Amino acid sequence: LASLEAHPQRSVVDVSGVLVGGGNLGMIAGPCSVEEPERMDRLAKSARESGANLFRGGAYKPRTSPYAFQGLGVEGLKILKEAGHRYGLPVVTEVTDPRNVEIVSEYADMLQVGARNMQNFVLLTEVGKSSRPVLLKRGMSATIQDLLMSAEYILSQGNPNVVLCERGIKSFDPSTRNLFDVAAVPVLAGLTHLPVIVDPSHATGRPDLIPACALAGLAAGADGVHIEIHDEPEVAKSDGPQALLPEQYQELAGRMRKMAELL
Ligand code: PEP
Ligand code: MN
Repeated sequence: LASLEAHPQRSVVDVSGVLVGGGNLGMIAGPCSVEEPERMDRLAKSARESGANLFRGGAYKPRTSPYAFQGLGVEGLKILKEAGHRYGLPVVTEVTDPRNVEIVSEYADMLQVGARNMQNFVLLTEVGKSSRPVLLKRGMSATIQDLLMSAEYILSQGNPNVVLCERGIKSFDPSTRNLFDVAAVPVLAGLTHLPVIVDPSHATGRPDLIPACALAGLAAGADGVHIEIHDEPEVAKSDGPQALLPEQYQELAGRMRKMAELL
């Protein structure tokens, strides 16, 4: 079902009115975790003003340590939706547990399946039954074929709205958090009709490298860019060190638009 050969028409995924794919860029911005309502309001407003068209934030956080902040749960879903929708931005949030697909689908316009859950087949089957579009992130040790087979789990349940995301893979080199596999974008475009976006935030873990990788992703043909922003990275509940400040995002968004126009 994911194959380009079998389905030569490129898919356009509709996220509550925002189109991703087929020349429409999904510009996803927002903090790693959903935080307090006032901050979420400020960040959604600035994302909107910078030209983002989708607002993100995690209410269920898959953390390496069980003692790290785990997310605000349902309260976070409400805060995210209110902030995003106030500024006309559909919202994207991660679902980590098959038992939460229903509740997350009530609040979110798009369900994110994170890298750590890319091969959680029970979760994939459950999001495949949801009517919400899905942002499927590549696992940090997953091949392109693994990613496509995970998409297949969702598609085969009847949900045709899947956007793939390259977010960096494990490497031996600690210079960057992960290794941004920019070639994954054209490789995927040659194999699947599904839209493909890039996430230079998790791929690099470094704000100074995000602009180059975001622009490289677009140059490689990505259908969108996912970037984490925060107005006080030093107090962020998660992934603060990799967040772009709202003004940095605004500047980059202008450059991303210019890059997209060149193509
Ligand atoms: C996230 O988007 O905040 C996240 C946890 O991403 P990933 O699953 O790619 O690590
Ligand atoms: Mn994050």
